[in-house]
Amino acid sequence: DTIGANLDRTAARFGGRDALVERTSGRRWSYREFVADVDALALGLLDAGIGKGDRVGIWAPNRAEWTLIQYATAKIGAVLVNINPAYRVHELEYVLDQAGVRMLVAARGFKGSDYAAMVGQVRDGRAALERVVFFDTPEWEALAAGSADRGRLAAIAATLSSDDPINIQYTSGTTGFPKGATLSHHNILNNGFFVGELCGYTETDRVCLPVPFYHCFGMVMGNLACTTHGAAMVIPAEGFDPAASLAAVAAERCTSLYGVPTMFIAELALPDFADHDLSSLRTGIMAGSPCPVEVMKQVIERMGMAEVSICYGMTETSPVSTQTRADDSVQRRVSTVGRVGPHLEIKVVDPETGLVVPRGQAGELCTRGYSVMLGYWDQPDRTAEVIDAARWMHTGDLAVMDSDGYVEITGRIKDMVIRGGENIYPREVEEFLHTHPDVLDAQVIGVPDPKYGEELMAWVRLRDGSPELTAPALREFCTGRLAHYKIPRYVHVVDEFPMTVTGKVRKVQMRAEAKRLLG
Ligand code: ATP
Ligand code: MG
Repeated sequence: DTIGANLDRTAARFGGRDALVERTSGRRWSYREFVADVDALALGLLDAGIGKGDRVGIWAPNRAEWTLIQYATAKIGAVLVNINPAYRVHELEYVLDQAGVRMLVAARGFKGSDYAAMVGQVRDGRAALERVVFFDTPEWEALAAGSADRGRLAAIAATLSSDDPINIQYTSGTTGFPKGATLSHHNILNNGFFVGELCGYTETDRVCLPVPFYHCFGMVMGNLACTTHGAAMVIPAEGFDPAASLAAVAAERCTSLYGVPTMFIAELALPDFADHDLSSLRTGIMAGSPCPVEVMKQVIERMGMAEVSICYGMTETSPVSTQTRADDSVQRRVSTVGRVGPHLEIKVVDPETGLVVPRGQAGELCTRGYSVMLGYWDQPDRTAEVIDAARWMHTGDLAVMDSDGYVEITGRIKDMVIRGGENIYPREVEEFLHTHPDVLDAQVIGVPDPKYGEELMAWVRLRDGSPELTAPALREFCTGRLAHYKIPRYVHVVDEFPMTVTGKVRKVQMRAEAKRLLG
């Protein structure tokens, strides 16, 4: 199936139900209205000479137009190129050139950064980039109200294949420069559908989406999971705002709320948390980085998200590979990333030998099935580094699978610390630090050490009003409860961690800063 055909079917079944709600403007679309606007925009793209396989860039925070463009490009088989809202000139140029973007659709700016000015700087000398259209302009209005002959949409639909590339999504850039994963209708439509299935979505669900659309968490696990089930997409704000998220849940009676762990931490820490009526929440998804057990417990108990699931995945696999189910035990739902998703395969291998390790032992997680990307856009060599001849995607993440198939992610191979010959998974130490009453959030990295090769350094964010936390005090807290070699030698108290826009902690940057701190 293609994304466009699937949307038409949903609209035919649930035409009168809410498809999309944008809280900042108060605009809302029923499925009937949504599909009408998607089609009008698709016709506008055809008017503008955009056709199958042409790359259309989208550079904007979460707003309704993002979603309209997502489906309009899919309808005509154009390839949507998601551009990170935090990018600056250098990265923008890279993406425009790397993906060969013909048309760019953009907001004028976001969070004090002037997109229009940056686009002005990069436009000259970029022949491939034929057209730039900014939202809220007469040009956008004309594009959104296309005049091409409607019959052309049906004719084009007949030429599309579900295996066509439809989307280039750049990875978060947590460990280095982002890579453009090329994804098909088949990849992401199925992934969105199964995520929605495991969340039990129906046309009565209303999903609050503070996660960025430019990333697969928003556009696949969010938008596509909704449109494949007739559920409503609720946009609480352009960027992440914890108060706006909770206000949207209360006002729209949302049944589901998404976030990376840091988003839930911020929402739970709001001083007026108790004033928000969250009684409509049934489920939600936490994903994207290690989900602390303590935070999961609070999401279940204080937010009432009894069925919340954890998903694990990566951009290259559309993204989800494993997910917890509502009927898994609470213990498993807070402490594992669940079991493999429907119609997918996973295995845990020794990264050196490639052989499957016994259950209960750590190794590199590999995924195979419908979700594996077509490849990195225009980078066959890099694709060959991660997808082997048997089509297994090597994730670069360390995992342990138990005898029932539940998976624990112990960290990225690159983040593992080797201290005096002992392998340390920072994740385990971070989980423990979360049990300290003054610790709001904790991250652990390895820093070079002449004696042990590496030593542990904990970066902590403290709760408001907590006394300063010194290294000796934290070490005392750990003594007798963590093996001696896992006790951090250094403690660095910060207000914020260096983050990607997708809410991932950039340990690469932390390691560089740590080296400076330690002189
Ligand atoms: P880059 O590949 O550019 O360095 P990235 O890997 O962070 O960035 P994404 O594709 O957005 O880019 O993220 C996928 C990664 O996020 C996974 O490989 C994994 O390390 C981490 N991750 C995702 N979900 C979870 C989870 N539930 N628990 C632990 N880690 C997770
Ligand atoms: Mg990655």
